[in-house]
Amino acid sequence: MPTRSWLAEFAWSPALGVRRDVLIQSAGDRFVAVTPDCGSPPSAVTRLPGVTVPGLANCHSHAFHRALRGVTQTGRGTFWTWRERMYEVAARLDPDSYLALATAVYAEMAIAGVSCVGEFHYVHHDQDGTRYADPNLMGRVLIEAASRAGIRVTLLDTCYLSGGLSSDGRHEPLEGVQLRFGDQDAAAWAARTAALWAEAGGTPGSNARAGAAIHSVRAVPADQMPEVVAWSHRFGVPLHAHLSEQVAENRACLAAYHATPTEVLDAVGAVGPRTTVVHATHLTPRDVRLLGDSRCHACFCPTTEADLADGVGPAAKLASAGSRLTLGSDSHAVVDLLEEARRVELGERLASQERGHFTAAELATVATAAGHASLGWPDAGELVAGGLADLVTVALDSPRTAGATGTTVLESVIFGATAADVRHVVVGGRDVVSEGRHLLVPDVPAALAGAIKAVLGAS
Ligand SMILES: [Zn+2]
Repeated sequence: MPTRSWLAEFAWSPALGVRRDVLIQSAGDRFVAVTPDCGSPPSAVTRLPGVTVPGLANCHSHAFHRALRGVTQTGRGTFWTWRERMYEVAARLDPDSYLALATAVYAEMAIAGVSCVGEFHYVHHDQDGTRYADPNLMGRVLIEAASRAGIRVTLLDTCYLSGGLSSDGRHEPLEGVQLRFGDQDAAAWAARTAALWAEAGGTPGSNARAGAAIHSVRAVPADQMPEVVAWSHRFGVPLHAHLSEQVAENRACLAAYHATPTEVLDAVGAVGPRTTVVHATHLTPRDVRLLGDSRCHACFCPTTEADLADGVGPAAKLASAGSRLTLGSDSHAVVDLLEEARRVELGERLASQERGHFTAAELATVATAAGHASLGWPDAGELVAGGLADLVTVALDSPRTAGATGTTVLESVIFGATAADVRHVVVGGRDVVSEGRHLLVPDVPAALAGAIKAVLGAS
């Protein structure tokens, strides 16, 4: 079993706090010792100048949305007009083009310090909506993409049954590209998804774990939700759902159910400690109490929420009510978990005109341990003996971080650094990024450019 030793100039993890001269040792894919204030490190140690933290968890991703960066930044519009552009890309994906695109996107994540991604996956079927010969082909493609990029993935296989909820509260049939997303009903979704994880003792790839998702109250009628909830309980895996991202979604839900989206999910037992609600932007005080009492996770995607003009969700209220926050880059308007982390605090400052809602350590915990727990990797996200050997080193000698001092290095990283300051990434004891270069995907920009050109076509 290969052993590794690193000496971190500074290291931080939730249980450790900020420490100097931290000797971090691994055997195979696990840490075996983490020793601060190490005065006499072994001679074969790899030195990590800067601040070393656990791997970052990107808890909400739709990999193919990356192709929309830039091209959707012209003109005006809303979430709903953006969605039309997104559908155009979704219609063009095939297994080969999605493998190339997702590999490049996950490589971009890796060089940004992401060691684990939660892929909210709903492009299941062929372009006319028929099942592939292997009905889980696209899910397998995403697991393979993560493997090629050297990161972990939780495949949040998403149940998507309805084209939307009309303003008078009717569930509309799937049409056009949405036919790629849908299964006949929740039972068909459950059977297809179970088939993937029944193989190889439940782990199609050593870098992959299972999860379930209810796309939203728009896309899954309430009477179909219990099947998905039961599936998540049966396998003991995370259950994610988009929640109250848009005011229009709340209005339609109230018309259909005389209840908020949170109340609908709660009524079918979908909200609990293994649940992550994504966005949670437009909530009533009762919604906040329900979510907090359930101890669910709430995944904030602040750059996407800003990009799509969603609004600013009640992060501090949810946290104080009992929910654990996590982060996602969602549509990949940018891929930078440090930016997502500080925007949680900065959004609160803008809304309240007061500073200091979340400390840097709290935001870093959101980006690491809490995120991994929400993706079904409770054994990652800490620099601790026995934990999965994932670490990220952020430089303190970049134009953005230079001048950081010992007592506030974590504050400099969370509030001043960007993804461009990530120097080293180790996943499962293996180097994935060294000196800012991806070791498995040698030219990440070229990989992205080629894959995006292939799916955007002539548009
Ligand atoms: Zn999403």
